[in-house]
Amino acid sequence: MNPFTYARAIDTSDAVRQGAVDGAKYLGGGTNLVDLMRETIERPASLVDVTGLSREIEDLPGDGLLIGAGVRNTALAEDSRVRRRYPLLTRAIVSGASAQIRNMATVGGNLIQRTRCAYFYDDAGSRCNKRSPGSGCDAIGGFNRNHAILGASTSCVAVHPSDMCVALAALDAVVHLRGDGGERRIALTDLHRLPGDRPDIETMLEPGELITAIELPPLLGKARSTYRKVRDRSSYAFALVSVAAVLEVEEGQVADVRIALGGVAHKPWRAPRAEAVLLGGPPVSSAFAMAADTELAEARSLSGNAFKVELARRTMVAVLEELAGEIA
Ligand code: SF4
Repeated sequence: MNPFTYARAIDTSDAVRQGAVDGAKYLGGGTNLVDLMRETIERPASLVDVTGLSREIEDLPGDGLLIGAGVRNTALAEDSRVRRRYPLLTRAIVSGASAQIRNMATVGGNLIQRTRCAYFYDDAGSRCNKRSPGSGCDAIGGFNRNHAILGASTSCVAVHPSDMCVALAALDAVVHLRGDGGERRIALTDLHRLPGDRPDIETMLEPGELITAIELPPLLGKARSTYRKVRDRSSYAFALVSVAAVLEVEEGQVADVRIALGGVAHKPWRAPRAEAVLLGGPPVSSAFAMAADTELAEARSLSGNAFKVELARRTMVAVLEELAGEIA
């Protein structure tokens, strides 16, 4: 591990002041920053510990919630308002990592965790454009079973590892940020980037900008939601494919539908094409299949992950059928 300084921020202003220094990184629970420092892939000059900040969950008008970035994942999953209003978020959180990690992980840290692509971690012998821009990508011709089928590039085919972010994408969550230039808000779906030719740049955060909270808009009472994760074993494994979905039906027609996929792209993948197919039509299996096919029409598989296209299709259809069954 390279030498670095460490300081615990006493409040948000203090954190932003310390985070503005060149080479500074924020440390929140649930990132893989320390793992990457051990491997000397990350080499921050200073760590600003923000785990003690913003640990409240506040009610917003109309039954929305404002979740502080320092709220622990376990506390969020167990909050009675979250369980009642946003059950897919609880399901997504408890399907991730282990109970011990969820106890320490924070909402802000979860958002900015980095890919677990094995070549990214292998500083000794692998080429990786994310770790070393311009060096190449050994995953494209190598072991790529877990890699992306949507939105990838010839530079990088990594996937985003978070479960929670997939649920937040389906919930139209808004991320609150604070930096040197003041405060701003950004849609969760706009926070993370696709890799393009700069996979080393993963978010739209400005240097020194700190995630302070996540805002969840209200979900209408009649909407049903869930999160389903498909993985190689039943715990402590990343998603091969996951689906978060919200469905509302009025008078036999889809009045609102929101679908997000995990394990398939460099960012939580919102599925607007599928949603457009379903809106205003009957919530039936044939429509769900057409929606999934439409969303996945641009999927591109690698040598080891073609199965993900059909897996994503079937999981989307199964999740929507489950929600429609609850409504009927
Ligand atoms: Fe690196 Fe991305 Fe290629 Fe993995 S997929 S080796 S993270 S460039």
